[in-house]
Amino acid sequence: MIALSLAEIAEIVGGQPHDIPDPEQRITGPVVIDSRAVEAGALFAAFQGERVDGHDYAERAVAAGAAAVLAARPVGVPAIVVDDVQVALGALARAVVARLGVDVVALTGSAGKTSTKDLIAQVLQRHAPTVFTPGSLNNEIGLPLTALRADADTRHLVLEMGARGIGHIRYLASLTPPRIGLVLNVGTAHIGEFGGREQIAEAKGELVESLPAADAGGVAVLNADDPLVRAMAARTEARTLLFGEADEAHVRAENVRLTEHGQPAFTLHTPTGCSDVTMRLYGEHHVSNALAAAAVAHELGMSVDEIALALSEAGALSRWRMEVTERPDGVTVVNDAYNANPESMRAALRALAAMGQAARARGGRTWAVLGHMAELGGAALAEHDAVGRLAVRLNVSKLVAVGGREASWLQLGAYNEGSWGEESVHVSDAQAAVDLLRSELRPGDVVLVKASRSAGLERVAAALLENT
Ligand code: ATP
Ligand code: MG
Repeated sequence: MIALSLAEIAEIVGGQPHDIPDPEQRITGPVVIDSRAVEAGALFAAFQGERVDGHDYAERAVAAGAAAVLAARPVGVPAIVVDDVQVALGALARAVVARLGVDVVALTGSAGKTSTKDLIAQVLQRHAPTVFTPGSLNNEIGLPLTALRADADTRHLVLEMGARGIGHIRYLASLTPPRIGLVLNVGTAHIGEFGGREQIAEAKGELVESLPAADAGGVAVLNADDPLVRAMAARTEARTLLFGEADEAHVRAENVRLTEHGQPAFTLHTPTGCSDVTMRLYGEHHVSNALAAAAVAHELGMSVDEIALALSEAGALSRWRMEVTERPDGVTVVNDAYNANPESMRAALRALAAMGQAARARGGRTWAVLGHMAELGGAALAEHDAVGRLAVRLNVSKLVAVGGREASWLQLGAYNEGSWGEESVHVSDAQAAVDLLRSELRPGDVVLVKASRSAGLERVAAALLENT
């Protein structure tokens, strides 16, 4: 954060100073909403949550070093009092970003936002100081908090934007106006809430509508392989930069393959030339994510060789996304329990199948331990059925479907796809899956664990890695 005085902040957010002895005191720490994260000189924003009211923690925050509190009412310690803390936080972020003049890169999409954001950050960091969304803090609170971490040294600000409905991205983009806007894909995540893929495209496309025109530097980075994303070119005055495997993409991958470990390798083409990439991340879906990151980095002036090297060295920054751990006994656990939707289920199964080739050579088998995919509305049965069938077609050795009705659809899909000399089973909960796996796993096996967040299957992965 740039060191603003309390008086300046009060003016920006249109708030009333209360109990502030020195209005010229400057905020030198981050803006935080959790009193436990307060550092000296921080600004503590008090949010009224469903169960906890941040105002009750104001005193504690100041005792821990916060310079003041952004609050909806006087709290007995130095505070700037506003009508709405969330609106004030947004206004502060907007003012800080405008003052700093940083280049804002914003990205959205149905799947892969966090993975791609982490790739972009790791590539851009080699080029210039970069501030980026930690984890998945992509909403109307997380986004301004991230933006407020930028300071005078920051050159690039990389922000993940999530949409749960029409108007959300437009609002987020108004807080931190991006110059470069990236749309990854329009899938079926949250389709139940949106109503359909067209509505999802409508919502995600608000990002490109928010960009400056081409002559003012606006760039829309769009996935050439996703028709609904590509069509967004018509919704913006910004210049369009396409990435993907399609021939007309400006940033392309050729000779795409998975190594025997399931890591993607390809030749990256950008308008400056071509260079080979072998990723440390797992799963072919990262090819698209890497191309998106490469397109952004190219736009910000990096050469193809710099980008290819950075992509090859990039690791996973966020947890439970294709986290691969080999146990001392030779069982490999792939923890992708962070979340799931049909696209990411397919990508993860393909990665498992690729890893299975090396596993088989060692006498090992592949296990897909899968739970439900949430928020699919009326498409739920067909999508779970299709994933079960795909597991069979990819010749996954064992499918363990975990949970209730949706899990039974996964297993039935596999069963109906036909016998493949292997088996699928349905167990009721995580503990049952752990018990089964503990007795069945043997050295050389590879186990993928994946489901929507609400299934909590990270417990299965954690149990498999305990005491190893
Ligand atoms: P959220 O909406 O929860 O923030 P996200 O869009 O940030 O999700 P990630 O956290 O990067 O997405 O990944 C979520 C899941 O999607 C992971 O299981 C990951 O393996 C998978 N995934 C990542 N990139 C892609 C992609 N390009 N296509 C399909 N699936 C992907
Ligand atoms: Mg995310």
